[in-house]
Amino acid sequence: MGDPVILLDHLSKHYGETRAVQELSLSIERGSIFGFLGANGAGKTTTIRMLCGLVRPTSGRASISALDVWRDRQRVRQKFGYVAQRFSLYRDLTVDENLRFFAGACRVPGAEVDRRIRRLLQLTDLEEKRNAPSGSLSGGMRQLLAIACALVHEPPLLFLDEPTSGLDPLHRQQMWNLLYDLSNTGITIFITTHYMDEAERCTDAGFIDQGRLLAKASPRAFKASFNTKLLELDIDPVMPALLRLREEAEVLGVSLRSGSLRLYAAEPEKLVARWRERWPFPELQWKGERWVEPDMEDVFTAYSQGYQAVLKPLPTP
Ligand code: ATP
Repeated sequence: MGDPVILLDHLSKHYGETRAVQELSLSIERGSIFGFLGANGAGKTTTIRMLCGLVRPTSGRASISALDVWRDRQRVRQKFGYVAQRFSLYRDLTVDENLRFFAGACRVPGAEVDRRIRRLLQLTDLEEKRNAPSGSLSGGMRQLLAIACALVHEPPLLFLDEPTSGLDPLHRQQMWNLLYDLSNTGITIFITTHYMDEAERCTDAGFIDQGRLLAKASPRAFKASFNTKLLELDIDPVMPALLRLREEAEVLGVSLRSGSLRLYAAEPEKLVARWRERWPFPELQWKGERWVEPDMEDVFTAYSQGYQAVLKPLPTP
């Protein structure tokens, strides 16, 4: 196990009655790609903003490279780059001018600026757009530029708050290729997303729900934490079947995947055996079934819906 670069110790943030983040304890190892996953309003941005020294924690503490994120926030700032959820570039400035602006704001030594900009443009594949106004770039290219700007002071850690939100699959792939390149150079990446396919691409993932950390593990460990096989059923007509099966006492939940129904149940084998003997839904036609491996979407569903019966405890990370 590597050494932790970020440590959270019972970190909390309250806004009046709203418990945005509650007692978050977590460690993130150097060189990892940590995916912070959760629904809208779960507390992801608030956590990142506390880690970046932009929001004062209500209680608890957090450190980056052993520096307290609030008390030492001026010094911590040199240790990370931050790509915020909202567009943080100057649209009237060109790509090159944006990079120079951020280099100045981060006090990059003058003699270094040209070399760094060249390298970042190469890394993000934006060399040809160097003199284009950033407002004229596609959404995906703007995000790549935002990352380049966040890296201009060569920080060892990068925070990204939903960087792929609103991007098409091609640009999302391009963004992830860049993140892998960065990870390869030793940069630790902390990324929030609500796309579960992106969770698969992280080395570690943490689920946050209503401000609380539900679990943290590698995607592989998360998927192995299912203690049952998952049953997928083909039933006609599918939508009435979805609603009907959800009412069954032994069924914890049902989700629709590519036209099939994925069933969460403590003992799905028994359920199938019983249904084979007697199918209790005459209005529905059972056309087939198969056993499938859980993916991160299933994991998220099980954790966020509290389907404890299908989960076994995770090994201590
Ligand atoms: P999203 O995916 O929508 O960005 P999130 O997981 O990042 O959501 P947060 O933005 O951290 O969630 O919000 C967590 C909770 O804290 C929400 O209920 C939100 O309304 C509340 N909240 C966040 N910032 C503030 C603020 N400045 N004042 C009051 N409430 C806030």
